[in-house]
Amino acid sequence: MQITANDPSRKSWLNVAKDSDFPIQNIPFGVFLTPENIITIGTRIGDYAIDLGALHQLGYFKDIPLTDDMFLQDSLNDFIADGRITWRLVRNRIANLFDINNRTLQDQPEHREVVIFDVNEVEMQLPVDIGDYTDFYASKEHATNVGSIFRDPKNALMPNWLHIPIGYHGRSSSIVPSGTSIRRPMGQTKAPNAAQPTFGPSKLLDFELEMAFITTDVNHLGESISIEEAEDYIFGLVLFNDWSARDIQGWEYVPLGPFLGKSFASTISPWIVTLDALQPFRVESPKQDPAPLPYLQQKPNNSFDIHLHAYIKPLNGEENLVAKSNFKYMYWTMAQQLTHHTSNGCNVRTGDMMGSGTISGPTKDSYGSMLELTWKGTQPLKLSDGTERKFINDHDTVILRGYCENEKVRIGFGECSGKVLPAR
Ligand code: MN
Repeated sequence: MQITANDPSRKSWLNVAKDSDFPIQNIPFGVFLTPENIITIGTRIGDYAIDLGALHQLGYFKDIPLTDDMFLQDSLNDFIADGRITWRLVRNRIANLFDINNRTLQDQPEHREVVIFDVNEVEMQLPVDIGDYTDFYASKEHATNVGSIFRDPKNALMPNWLHIPIGYHGRSSSIVPSGTSIRRPMGQTKAPNAAQPTFGPSKLLDFELEMAFITTDVNHLGESISIEEAEDYIFGLVLFNDWSARDIQGWEYVPLGPFLGKSFASTISPWIVTLDALQPFRVESPKQDPAPLPYLQQKPNNSFDIHLHAYIKPLNGEENLVAKSNFKYMYWTMAQQLTHHTSNGCNVRTGDMMGSGTISGPTKDSYGSMLELTWKGTQPLKLSDGTERKFINDHDTVILRGYCENEKVRIGFGECSGKVLPAR
């Protein structure tokens, strides 16, 4: 089925600012509370949140096979479970309804009134009920930096890294939507020269600049999927800050990997940008050498050109851009991650979320964590208010933004923001 929603010549009758992340070519999906405190599934065009539950009740999706309550829910799981044909039909329909050349909804002021809200009047929720969450480690630059900082610059990559998309099973209960404050975690740490560990607030709180994709039902237990079909099961992407307490992580991670240094909180952006919307921004992923094993070998053009920016905003201060990276730097692609994930027969379900791992680029200003940007605190960053940061301070807000842009269209992900509160 054609993706007519992406037509770059389309204009909406809703006002969209030139630099908006949400032109009519985006049509992301999210969940929000209306000003009357009703929860609904919606989309966004410009600075307008659009209530898809209300649109459906008014008959605007009539000839698309959807259950009556498809959009009157507190998560996108049922919609995502319906699969790619439904996603395309709905996205194409929304694009049509809000096209400047279509008067159907445009000429119904009573309908517009109950369907369209100012985005500042709605409260964004978690878009999906996330069952399982997996975090990968897919950026070669990031893995090399971390290996150089903690082990040996000459043997920075572990011997398995170029053969396997490395990942671990994370914690989904503490994933929160953008705007939720983060409590600095308490934990057990051990200073390098201390004889004994101590328990207290983390001193090395960090962000990780990541993206995450959300899946529909992929496979039954015991079965696997091929690399060719993997993308069919990816609904869309969000920005993802995988908050990390480096001192807790450093003490606990051997031999089973990340645990409480990661599970205290993770932040996602609330609008899921569909893989369909990202099609015009396909690019080549980095050349893989050595070639991966056959089950992970993929056709070209398998990544996406998504500019990623990270900012630190001190209390009462301005935003400081601290990192400029890009999704395309990822060595292991989403399809490779998902194929690898199911290769042992592990079932991946609707609403599962897969983090990319920190996405660092080749240059110093493109590193996706404070650990790398300050080289474990040895080279602090100077902020515009004159203060320095080795890691993230209490009352700092970390903001991630991401967008794609070509000559014709720009679509983005909005904001993934979280403010750090002092430890309790
Ligand atoms: Mn991570």
